[in-house]
Amino acid sequence: MSRVVVVGSYNQDHVWSVDRFPQPGETRRGQAFATGPGGKGFNQAVAAARQGADTVFIGALGDDDLARVARALASAEGLDARWQTVAGTPTGSCAILVDAQAQNQIVLYLAANECLEAGHVQAQADAFAAAAVLLVQLETGLEPIHAALQAAPAQCLRLLNPAPVHARLDAPLLAAADLITPNETEFAELLARFAGVELAADAIAGCSDAELHALCRRLGRASVIVTLGARGCFVSHAQRERHRDSEDCYRLPAETVQVRDTTGAGDAFNGALAAELALNPQQPLRRILRHAGRAAALSTERPGAATAMPTRQQVLQRFG
Ligand code: ATP
Repeated sequence: MSRVVVVGSYNQDHVWSVDRFPQPGETRRGQAFATGPGGKGFNQAVAAARQGADTVFIGALGDDDLARVARALASAEGLDARWQTVAGTPTGSCAILVDAQAQNQIVLYLAANECLEAGHVQAQADAFAAAAVLLVQLETGLEPIHAALQAAPAQCLRLLNPAPVHARLDAPLLAAADLITPNETEFAELLARFAGVELAADAIAGCSDAELHALCRRLGRASVIVTLGARGCFVSHAQRERHRDSEDCYRLPAETVQVRDTTGAGDAFNGALAAELALNPQQPLRRILRHAGRAAALSTERPGAATAMPTRQQVLQRFG
């Protein structure tokens, strides 16, 4: 059983390069334009499939031209895509500006993604039956995510990427996850909401490992992987034996690469993590995360989101 099931969003991304971001009321000339598939769910599914995992993607599309593009792309990636078609609502879309420092600004219109129904997820029982890893994010409503967490078999690892932190994200959802992967902003938001701890996202980098571990443990039983961009990630376990690690908490540095566009780095990380967990379940998590970090680092060298995901061969060729 090496199947990954991803439940989440699909968007058509429109990406403009600019020298700097416009101020309110200002018009700036774009320097380049590209359009391609995106959405945290789809990006992560493509990232997992390119790492060689048998990947099922469950998501929703409108009944429009973008939906036809999405179906063709999913099939070209070898994804087993289980789409719900939502009549009268557009397929999700996203506007992304990337500046000369490779920072991004994003406007997201979720549209059909918000109409994904729990019933559609539950109807994919055959996909869940063989799932080794379930990977969910928060760009859909919460009901289909709850449905997925319930539909996954007991031995399936439940991986929650709490991005973007959903206004309705609830404690049961957090409690149902085996692994959670917030970035610094999301980690600060989770701490405020579920542990009553107010900590600025940019203060997280200055915390000691012991402080971060204690904070992570206030979020419940799940292992927590806080992604720290170019600084790598921090890992905290409640039960390290479960993930074959020898330490309760540790940091992993990121690879040094020629960064061009960090859009989708988190998605590359989560997709590759899910694939590695499914393909190499006997490996210590530390080793699995090293591979995920390498895939994520490579994705920052290319523009775009889903299209920037590296293959397993590319990761191995580059880093050995
Ligand atoms: P995004 O929203 O841009 O997709 P994110 O905020 O969810 O990303 P990050 O913490 O920025 O996630 O990045 C996830 C992982 O990607 C990091 O833990 C790291 O392994 C890798 N990564 C990100 N940025 C860089 C970088 N500049 N150089 C090398 N690796 C990086």
